[in-house]
Amino acid sequence: MGGCIFCRIVRREIPAQIDQESSQTLAFHDIHPQAPLHVLIVPKEHLSSILDLGKRHSEVLGEMVAVAQKIACREGVDQSGFRLVFNCGPDAGQAVDHLHLHLLAKRKLAWPPG
Ligand code: AMP
Ligand code: ZN
Repeated sequence: MGGCIFCRIVRREIPAQIDQESSQTLAFHDIHPQAPLHVLIVPKEHLSSILDLGKRHSEVLGEMVAVAQKIACREGVDQSGFRLVFNCGPDAGQAVDHLHLHLLAKRKLAWPPG
């Protein structure tokens, strides 16, 4: 996926504020943060959305959640709370067609979301 913006970040072709890398994932700060802590965790493999996930992706999905947990604990929001979000499709406002897990924290988050 040559033109995909998150594939390009994974390949280090465009800059991003990278938090950490694991064997199958990359975590970097959202360019338009919606909370004081807003990190995106993406698979290095191009997957368009949660709809692309199959049985063979259980490991990468587990890694994405493990990275989110690690960042939440490191940032000290494991007790105060945080939110993990996958947007999928137009009604959810998915703007980038490369699977990404939002980690949002360090402010009170409204529910239900807008
Ligand atoms: P979504 O609406 O779930 O598709 O979210 C896409 C997210 O990617 C948005 O929160 C954007 O601010 C973020 N984003 C888009 N381009 C970049 C970029 N180059 N670096 C970091 N975050 C980005
Ligand atoms: Zn991609």
